Amino acid sequence: MGFSPRTEALLDRAGSICLGRGARLTDLRRQVLGLILDANAPTGAYDLLDRLRTTRHGAAPPTVYRALDFLLEHGLVHRVERLSAFIGCVAHEEAHAAQFLICRNCGKVTEIDDHGLAHALEHAARRLGFSVGNATIEAEGLCAACDPQQAAACH
Ligand SMILES: [Zn+2]
Ligand SMILES: [Zn+2]
Repeated sequence: MGFSPRTEALLDRAGSICLGRGARLTDLRRQVLGLILDANAPTGAYDLLDRLRTTRHGAAPPTVYRALDFLLEHGLVHRVERLSAFIGCVAHEEAHAAQFLICRNCGKVTEIDDHGLAHALEHAARRLGFSVGNATIEAEGLCAACDPQQAAACH
């Protein structure tokens, strides 16, 4: 199964990120990541399974979940909790906290990478003696294309 040239380039990059950490982006992991990167929207595990089965007929849910666990662990995908779906992220060398803006009109999900936000949360939590392990921030609203006020401001 072939992916778009852009996705293939990202997959090569993901492969070398893994190698640098002494991990291996196996064919299966590469394929699952490719399906996520090639999709235009966050993709759920069962959608991934369906797409995977077009080439791997015997694929079962644990196959996909194990591949997703690996990709999550290495920060190559994020889970968007609100949508129970996965989104690719091959832009960073390191695993990182993610923040998402989810448009409630068109469903577009944008990742913002703001260290200030992550640190503000950590500091606020530490004041309460809480040490943050995993923090994914998800904000719901309207994207620039869907917000009539922003559209008006542009014209
Ligand atoms: Zn990310
Ligand atoms: Zn929108």
